[in-house]
Amino acid sequence: MAGMVIIGAGHAAGQVAASLRQEKYAGPITIIGDELHPPYQRPPLSKQYLAGEQELNRVYLRPEKFYADKNITLKLGVTATAIDCDTKQVRLNHGETLEYDKLILSTGSRPRILNIEGSDLKGIHYLRTIADVDAIRAEMTKGKNLVIVGGGYVGLEVASVGVTQGLTVHVLEMEERILQRVTTPQMSEFYHNLHTGRGVNIHTNTGVSGFSGDGQVQKVICGETEFTADLVIVGIGIIPNIELAQEAGLECNNGIVVDAHCRTSNPDIYAAGDCTNHYNPILDRRLRLESVPNAMEQARVCAANMLGGDKKYSSMPWFWSDQYELKLQMVGFSADGDEQVVRGSMADNQFAVFYLKDGKVVSADAVNSPREFMVCKQLIGKKVDPAVLIDPETDLKTLIS
Ligand SMILES: Cc1cc2nc3c(=O)[nH]c(=O)nc-3n(C[C@H](O)[C@H](O)[C@H](O)COP(=O)(O)OP(=O)(O)OC[C@H]3O[C@@H](n4cnc5c(N)ncnc54)[C@H](O)[C@@H]3O)c2cc1C
Repeated sequence: MAGMVIIGAGHAAGQVAASLRQEKYAGPITIIGDELHPPYQRPPLSKQYLAGEQELNRVYLRPEKFYADKNITLKLGVTATAIDCDTKQVRLNHGETLEYDKLILSTGSRPRILNIEGSDLKGIHYLRTIADVDAIRAEMTKGKNLVIVGGGYVGLEVASVGVTQGLTVHVLEMEERILQRVTTPQMSEFYHNLHTGRGVNIHTNTGVSGFSGDGQVQKVICGETEFTADLVIVGIGIIPNIELAQEAGLECNNGIVVDAHCRTSNPDIYAAGDCTNHYNPILDRRLRLESVPNAMEQARVCAANMLGGDKKYSSMPWFWSDQYELKLQMVGFSADGDEQVVRGSMADNQFAVFYLKDGKVVSADAVNSPREFMVCKQLIGKKVDPAVLIDPETDLKTLIS
């Protein structure tokens, strides 16, 4: 029996393997990962692990012993270089070939690289892996000048850690507001004020044209303006890892195209996580998501269906971000709304913004309101009077049924 082979040892991979065993699959499971670590969580990399508040073994999804106990083979530091769909084999970089009954692609994504003058200088980092963060942490010491390119969630999380640790922090954002791609002007303004209030320097409408320095980065150049830098972290988005799938002839289009069962265009190959382009039946559109809840849910769907099940993916997208002592939790897409109302107090950093379309809740952003967020998730799709939503006397739970 060839068994189940999983390419990529990230969040989705770890969950697929665990779910296969939970579903009582007893055959061989092999995870191939090009990093040296067992499947781990990336969210702490720009939060607690970067801040030195979380041990490495707490970043791992499960202890290494779990894989040995469950008879799951981890092939780490190994890259899958080709898939032969006809013979159902995967070729690995050191020459080995593995056969599979079913194959999962959970290859994730990689940072978009800035290819401009000076971009190969020392001290310019990207943040995707434990190895990246270990290198950053070694340089991220009090008093240094940290320049962050990109005002997205990862960049802003790093800014909050940096300024809290006593670095001088500049965030350079080429759009007219931070978080422009992912949230509303109101939320961008809230986070802009939060960061500047804590001492972060935010420069919008500021695109980077180059870096300079003598071997080591010293300046970030933005046209006529220069910023002094001891280290730079670039967070300008990600690119899904689809090349392996493409070369194997699988259908790809901004991600590996999967159906409602997380199956690719080949019936024996499934895909889960950041690398997929999937149909979301609740939103009635195709999406490529970069989030842990999506990776976990698709992994469970894959595991069930690889074993002959008929599980369909149907999950409302949600995401979170931690900056300073604020936990932001988001569900749905705020851009889908045509009306927004705020419950709670933005001034006190404790509130929920509800987005409605035709009177129905389509999305919510909750800051430091985890209990309310649980209810927000269940209010999606419900018609609710906005005045009732924001009334502090309203127990949101009563609106669910
Ligand atoms: C800094 C940071 C902070 C984040 N914060 C949040 C957050 O707060 N909330 C949230 O929901 N999401 C967050 N995310 C996103 C979340 O971590 C990802 O959506 C999630 O990790 C996706 O899991 P995955 O298994 O699809 O891919 P990944 O976790 O990226 O794993 C894919 C793995 O496959 C490996 N691989 C690729 N190709 C091959 C190959 N050919 N052979 C062998 N191995 C291969 C890759 O190197 C990688 O190790 C964050 C991401 C980052 C980087």
